[in-house]
Amino acid sequence: MVILLLIGVALMAYVAYRYETLTIGGAWTAFLVGAGIAIPFSYEGLLLLALFFIGSTLFGRLPTRTFKRETEVRTAGQVFANGGVAALLAFSVFLFADDELAKIMFISALAAANSDTWATEGGRRWGGRPYHIRINTRTDTGRSGAITPIGTMAAFIGSGLIAIFGSFLLLGGDWMFVMTIAGFTGAMADTAIGAYLQEERKCMRCNRLTEDTSHCGHNTQIIRGIPGFDNNKVNIACTIVAPLFAMAIFLLV
Ligand SMILES: [Zn+2]
Repeated sequence: MVILLLIGVALMAYVAYRYETLTIGGAWTAFLVGAGIAIPFSYEGLLLLALFFIGSTLFGRLPTRTFKRETEVRTAGQVFANGGVAALLAFSVFLFADDELAKIMFISALAAANSDTWATEGGRRWGGRPYHIRINTRTDTGRSGAITPIGTMAAFIGSGLIAIFGSFLLLGGDWMFVMTIAGFTGAMADTAIGAYLQEERKCMRCNRLTEDTSHCGHNTQIIRGIPGFDNNKVNIACTIVAPLFAMAIFLLV
């Protein structure tokens, strides 16, 4: 059974690579993440991962007015930033006697990744100009640390979707509300960390703020934040905050 699932994961990673959704490194990382989830949680865990992966890929390819239609090819770093912590938590089920807590933490991490992705995709499409929580003013669409009401609503729905499916698939319908709040909290932490700690870069040619290390064919310069603390690391933090939040609730009740 596990062998069949692993072959399925390898096929999915290969298809994603062929259709230029993932780089070769991204495809390998996706295989490791999938295997790390399939071995402890079988097809139930994989279904949840597929829901996150396929949902956010399709969402990311919907047409948009404010942004160019994105055909971003995800790298190993981006794949790990979204699914790495969830896979490590899934695997931790072998280390701890209490597999209910490991499942709750795994689902919460994935809910946070989905929540953050939906917030970004929903906000940049239908949110209008976002409000930046640190500089207290409206700012450019897509900037870290900026929020919109639509994006925040999308974050809640994105978290709830994974929490509800995860709860039915792995926890017999329990804990869905706690995991929804945990995932949403992770996404909100992502915004706060993105606003206050993430490095911010500027293109010295066109004066645009960007998250990319190069723009207009030249290297961009860091203008604030912790050097090296990029979007991937903020996403990893987001997927760590959510399971910790869920664990705190689990241990309190
Ligand atoms: Zn530029």
